[in-house]
Amino acid sequence: MKTLILRTDGACRGNPGPASIGAALYDAHAAGASEPDATPIASISAAIGTTTNNVAEWKAVIAGAELALELGATTLSLLLDSKLVVEQLHGRWRVRDAKLAPLCDEAISLLSQLNSWEARHVPRAQNGRADALANEALDRALRGGPARVVRRPDDHARTAVATDARDSGGERQATRLTILGSGASRGVPRVGCRCDVCLSRDMRNRRLRSAALIEWRDPVDGATRSVVIDPGMDLREQALRFNVERLDGALVTHIHVDHTGGIDELRAYTDAQDLVLPVGASSDTATELRLRWAYAFDGRTAPGHGIPALTLVEGDEQVTIAGRRFQAIPLVHGRRATTGWRSGNLAYLTDVGSVAAASRAMLADLDLLVVSALRDLPHPTHQTVDEALALIADLAPRRAILTHLDHDLDYADLAGRLPRGVIPAFDGLVAELPAR
Ligand SMILES: [Zn+2]
Ligand SMILES: [Zn+2]
Ligand SMILES: [Zn+2]
Repeated sequence: MKTLILRTDGACRGNPGPASIGAALYDAHAAGASEPDATPIASISAAIGTTTNNVAEWKAVIAGAELALELGATTLSLLLDSKLVVEQLHGRWRVRDAKLAPLCDEAISLLSQLNSWEARHVPRAQNGRADALANEALDRALRGGPARVVRRPDDHARTAVATDARDSGGERQATRLTILGSGASRGVPRVGCRCDVCLSRDMRNRRLRSAALIEWRDPVDGATRSVVIDPGMDLREQALRFNVERLDGALVTHIHVDHTGGIDELRAYTDAQDLVLPVGASSDTATELRLRWAYAFDGRTAPGHGIPALTLVEGDEQVTIAGRRFQAIPLVHGRRATTGWRSGNLAYLTDVGSVAAASRAMLADLDLLVVSALRDLPHPTHQTVDEALALIADLAPRRAILTHLDHDLDYADLAGRLPRGVIPAFDGLVAELPAR
């Protein structure tokens, strides 16, 4: 259960005139979350071109609801200063304006994806934050700045990890895993596909190529360390979307390009941080990486010259990246092998066709298992949802997340049929693992 509060506002200079939207999301369980001056966990400030004030009000609700869904909200409490929108959302007032009816329908269809929602009218004076976000957008657009600015909770959350680790007292490591991408090799939606999932407005059905970020607080110097598993084709987009501003290393599961296509993007980090970035891989994968990205791994490039400066850390049993040990778990991916990575109580296994008994023995006593499940129909190199669930039942982790999902799987449908303790991944999903 995740309950969020959403405050929205539309602004318009002239009616119609240059218009904008503001939306602020709050964690309902945080102290003082419903106070007008509370700090939002996420927000949207966007100019939307010339339109009417009522259109702006509705578009603000739609954008806010989309962001709430993306952040995993199951219950939403909307606090709006437009009495018209509140009454029309609840169906108590009819929508007479033909321009507004489809917007109202769209908002209701988004809200119906939640377990529950309610909308309440609040006085304009209490909606200052959303109003400011909307006006900020108009001013920014006038100055030639970006039309749309979305702030997501990553920054705040990163601070929370640091706090957790500090509280846990020294050598124990609290870990955070962020799903940077949850999609299969083509991503979802697929280019040109018009299936229900590809056309879905549920943000959780928009999947970048599968990748994850693991963060922890270093017990020695107290700094936060970040390692990406699979610098894939969408790495740049993921880094921008989820604020991955620095990295201490990368791990690669296998050579397929959806998992390695972002190797060159790592130069953003080796340039900015002036370092040679360690990349962990099995010896077979390391050989292939050296062949394909010789210029990055040949050891001749110093950081800061527009070429990624990378060094391979090979290991068929384990590698140490940024001071943390990752155990290599051999997995079958059709005719080739892929490597799962386990660290402490967390394991990330993607592109799994099957898992041999010897590898299963390395996966006991997990707090969190992230594992791939491509679709329901059998596939020569990927396990199905049922096969993934059978593996989960066998390994019995405390929690499991299904990832590398193709366009056959609708998020809400899949979530509704998974057993307790198992959830589908979506881009931006964050899992906290306590130190133990
Ligand atoms: Zn893949
Ligand atoms: Zn499709
Ligand atoms: Zn693959």
